[in-house]
Amino acid sequence: MALEGKLVITCACTGAETTKAQNPALPITPDEVAKTAEECRAAGAAILHLHVRNDDGTPTASVARFKEAIEAVRRKTDIIVEITTGGAVGDTAEDRLRPIAALQPEMASLDCGTVNFGDEYIVNDLPTMRAFAAEFRKHKVRATLECFDLGHVYASHYLIKEGLLEAPYHYGFVLNVPGAVPYSVENLSAFIRALPAGADYTVMGIGRSSLPAQFGAMANGGWIRVGFEDNVYFSKGVLAKSNAELVERAARIAHEGGLKPATPDEVRQYLKLRG
Ligand code: ZN
Repeated sequence: MALEGKLVITCACTGAETTKAQNPALPITPDEVAKTAEECRAAGAAILHLHVRNDDGTPTASVARFKEAIEAVRRKTDIIVEITTGGAVGDTAEDRLRPIAALQPEMASLDCGTVNFGDEYIVNDLPTMRAFAAEFRKHKVRATLECFDLGHVYASHYLIKEGLLEAPYHYGFVLNVPGAVPYSVENLSAFIRALPAGADYTVMGIGRSSLPAQFGAMANGGWIRVGFEDNVYFSKGVLAKSNAELVERAARIAHEGGLKPATPDEVRQYLKLRG
């Protein structure tokens, strides 16, 4: 049973790789992230997907920096904070996992496999994924099972069979990463068919696929993610003024489709978050 009549919007406002040179409105500091979170919540986002940066903009997996950012967000808004454990290209698994025990966020991403990322690559072998899932379970952190490839969806079934994940399952399909799976209706359908029964999913179309992926997700009953981590443009050649502008459009599309953006508390209840 899905969240009847509702669409869950996630905003991935910063990411690890996007730069202010690509879009000057990119939030970097905890205060900038908190202001963005407040604006995105007002525009209809229920979940904030969070990476953190040093003041110079370089990505970090520092627990102290995550703590600072989460506290700044909490002072402004009730949005759900989903921290990354994907980190940045080159981070070790230990670095990526550390904030789970230290900060016990409501949600966090859990990468379900190894993938090309442009000229780089991100390694997640099954033993790493098991260790991550066990740690999430121990601290009652709801995973967004991020799948960059069809094989990742199948790999997640091992974690379920081994009792390392508990329902409700929430997936994140990351499509159009250079070197991985492009967004298309057919490719999205293949991912959806591979899901365990009753799972929900958020679709993330990277770059120019962001908007088509939003329509594809909604047509299939999925949820959507927007934000500068995935795409800095509003339309071809036109930079988005802010993350909130992208959330506003997603909410507008939802309304046109007869759906209301879900509130953070509705999602907390539905996904049985620790709260
Ligand atoms: Zn991310």
